[in-house]
Amino acid sequence: MRLPLVASDDPVLHKPASPITDLTEVKGIAADMIETMRLEGGVGLAAPQIGKSIRIFVTGVGGTEHVFINPQIEWYSETIVPYEEGCLSLPRLQGVVERPDRVRLQYLSLEGAPQRIEASELLARVIQHEHDHLEGILFPDRMKDIRTLKTLTQEEWDSRFENKE
Ligand code: ZN
Repeated sequence: MRLPLVASDDPVLHKPASPITDLTEVKGIAADMIETMRLEGGVGLAAPQIGKSIRIFVTGVGGTEHVFINPQIEWYSETIVPYEEGCLSLPRLQGVVERPDRVRLQYLSLEGAPQRIEASELLARVIQHEHDHLEGILFPDRMKDIRTLKTLTQEEWDSRFENKE
């Protein structure tokens, strides 16, 4: 089921989310989040974006979909790279954010099994962006110079989120 996204000024986007203790309800939420991410054309979606203050996000990079429950980034590379980020919760905004180019993350699978992943390039970027959502942080908060935040035209925005893969 496609879920509605909350507005950018919704308090749920601006506060830390709670750890998940009961996995039984999460399966349905995860499936709905993946469907919503696909239909929105995004490469990631975190629970606060659909109004739920719980620690789960999904990614869809390079045709592979992942569910991350109670994720913790345990290692960041020293190499920092810039990238123009956008966010489904901040329509038409785009800005350069510098982040480590690799991360290692531990999390729980939908079955509750501890997992670990080392990610690079776009997946590492998306993981950090979505993890920030669980802390109540949006990408403009990470920009070195907020004056470089751009507002795209609707056409530019739509083409960014077509997710042509
Ligand atoms: Zn976002």
